[in-house]
Amino acid sequence: MSQETLPTDWSFEGTAARRDRFYASSLTRFTPFRDPIVFRKGQGQYLWDTEGNKYIDLLGMNVCISVGHSHPRVVEAAMAQAQELTHCTTMFYHPTPAHLAEELAATMPAGHDWVVHLTNSGSEAIDLAMTMSRTYTGNLDLLALRHSYHGPTSAAQSITGISGWRHPGMPGDVAFVPEPNQYRGIFGKGTQPYLDEIDRVIASATSGKVAGIVVESIQGYGGVIEMPPGYMSGAAERVRAAGGLYIADEVQSGFCRTGAHFWGFEADRVVPDIVVMAKGLGNGFPIGAVVARKKVAAPMAEKFMFHTYGANPTSCAAARAVLRVLRDEGLQENARRVGAALYERLKALADKHAAIGDVRGKGLMLAIEIVSDRSAKTSDRETTAHVFEACREQGLILSKSGPTQSTLRMVPPLCLSFEDVDVVARGLDKAFSTAR
Ligand code: PMP
Repeated sequence: MSQETLPTDWSFEGTAARRDRFYASSLTRFTPFRDPIVFRKGQGQYLWDTEGNKYIDLLGMNVCISVGHSHPRVVEAAMAQAQELTHCTTMFYHPTPAHLAEELAATMPAGHDWVVHLTNSGSEAIDLAMTMSRTYTGNLDLLALRHSYHGPTSAAQSITGISGWRHPGMPGDVAFVPEPNQYRGIFGKGTQPYLDEIDRVIASATSGKVAGIVVESIQGYGGVIEMPPGYMSGAAERVRAAGGLYIADEVQSGFCRTGAHFWGFEADRVVPDIVVMAKGLGNGFPIGAVVARKKVAAPMAEKFMFHTYGANPTSCAAARAVLRVLRDEGLQENARRVGAALYERLKALADKHAAIGDVRGKGLMLAIEIVSDRSAKTSDRETTAHVFEACREQGLILSKSGPTQSTLRMVPPLCLSFEDVDVVARGLDKAFSTAR
């Protein structure tokens, strides 16, 4: 049955009315625009709404679109698999997830035995990584960073350090360390004070023995906070000394997004014990994974653990195609070069617009933080909301991020072009010119 034969009301009013009536209140906060948009089509780095307006998707549909909307090779791989056998649950054998596991292991640092557990989503992979680290080490306490985001499940929320994402009923045994934010972190610039604080937190807020630390190589929802040089390796050293593991959350920073490497953690030569991934892996098809050192995953053989769609061959076929497209289209190099050009244009905008307090990030994971007073670094949620809405008029879809929603995050599909950079810079310039 084609999409056309399913009765679909494409009107904005109809969609809004159905959402208002049938979506649970738990979903209402997640509506970014004053007047929402109904999207109809995506191709490459572009989106079109039902009125035919074209946008550059600087949010990459929440960092899921790595190689471009509806990439023909990804769609073709998924369609071919769906027509043959849409689902094959993990307990039965199928070559596609097995190939994907081998191909994901091959992206990891050499010299270790990597094994893969496929999940449906990033938060499931986070839950599994938490369980795996506690099972392997026999310790309960986990460390997480303030202003981290790791997902909506109860366990993932328990290591999420932004209160707006934390709900009642989360499990405990988690202690938070301050994020090494080089713009407004509590110890200012540098790495060492933040590492020393890890030791103090272990000594004061845990039993002294920990299961691990979970670190986003670049915090996403926290507002694109890059781990400074030496932080990831230093954190791993300290946590390992207390019996724990280093868990890299690469859900946003993985799959070539930083332009410098395939994985964000590679910036610091740390070799994690567990790597969590999702989003860009499926280019929009739902899939996540835990990739772990073989010995770390081994004790979990004692009990059942599986995710119904985890090894779904349709999503796995899409993911295999994503890995090939990333390589064949040179998207890591594109992210590096186009990201650097965009970064320079954002810096130039900061010279012109006093509301821009900071420009940061790497590759195609960039952000502008907006302030009402540069020297006091006062967060400015209102101006951010204004610029965000004004950008929409310029055909730009961004995201308001950070604990005070005063950062504009840019995480577009990795095929963004130099021509797009020009459109983005001019659009942002106009949007800032209308602010205050
Ligand atoms: N970790 C990070 C860094 C994320 O950004 C997200 C999703 N935004 C998750 C984990 C959870 O992934 P999912 O929404 O697929 O459960």
